[in-house]
Amino acid sequence: MIRVGVFGASGRVGKLLLEDLKITDDMSLSSVYVRSSLDFSIDPSVLVTSDMKSFLNACDVIVDFSLPEACETLLEYAIKTPKPLVIGTTGLSQHQLNLLKNASELMPVLYATNMSLGVALLNKLVYQASAALEGFDIEIVEMHHRHKKDAPSGTALTLSESAAKGRGLDLDKVRVSGRDGNIGERTKDEIAVMALRGGDIVGRHTVGFYNDGEFLELNHTATSRNTFSKGALKAASWLSIQEKGLYSISDCLEL
Ligand code: NAD
Repeated sequence: MIRVGVFGASGRVGKLLLEDLKITDDMSLSSVYVRSSLDFSIDPSVLVTSDMKSFLNACDVIVDFSLPEACETLLEYAIKTPKPLVIGTTGLSQHQLNLLKNASELMPVLYATNMSLGVALLNKLVYQASAALEGFDIEIVEMHHRHKKDAPSGTALTLSESAAKGRGLDLDKVRVSGRDGNIGERTKDEIAVMALRGGDIVGRHTVGFYNDGEFLELNHTATSRNTFSKGALKAASWLSIQEKGLYSISDCLEL
């Protein structure tokens, strides 16, 4: 039985992880990190703690869906007490991404801005389309619920990286994430990534390739957050037996 520690357990995805673990055969919830106390009941066999070291020691693998600063603290502690880490938190800064890379030199780390099979495949398709559709303008639009804090979404940024790679472009030089005012015509290589927020939308991403006379749009819509929690647990089971290193969701899904 794989013992799972959940970081961010009281969040939208965290709560689903706890529910899913109740019905997962080869995994059980062993520890939950809290800042103060939990506002819901939990099986008394589970360690509920605000002591990071005890949290880490009580599990075989950690699943994180929290906030960037919280994820940073987790990574700092994990570097001292290595454990396989599944990181789902998005909006990580360059410093936090470097920390994640450092951690992966000591333990297996799977970092995925989207844990769904559909988006993992979409990234492959976007790479192919971007390479094949020379001269087409690439525009990405993402929509999420009104509570989402980071923008553009981690998924949209990963999709834009796939698109840039397909064209051999440096994303930092070509990404545009806002247009306002008399900004002039669209430049040839730019890759736009635009964010819309509203209601309870779980996640919708459209990658469009636009040319004179035709356009192709690839769209993925998540209709339930269970897609992410189930994907993350599948990743945790897979990661728990991997060597140290930095993995993506495609590695786990063998895409
Ligand atoms: P949420 O706001 O509902 O939950 C955040 C959780 O983090 C809460 O449990 C909160 O208590 C905890 N937290 C906040 N600050 C903390 C701190 N300093 N120390 C410890 N815990 C802290 O958010 P959510 O919708 O569940 O999403 C969480 C993260 O996962 C976000 O970054 C979101 O973008 C990302 N996300 C990723 C995927 C994916 O597939 N990778 C899917 C959905 C959401």
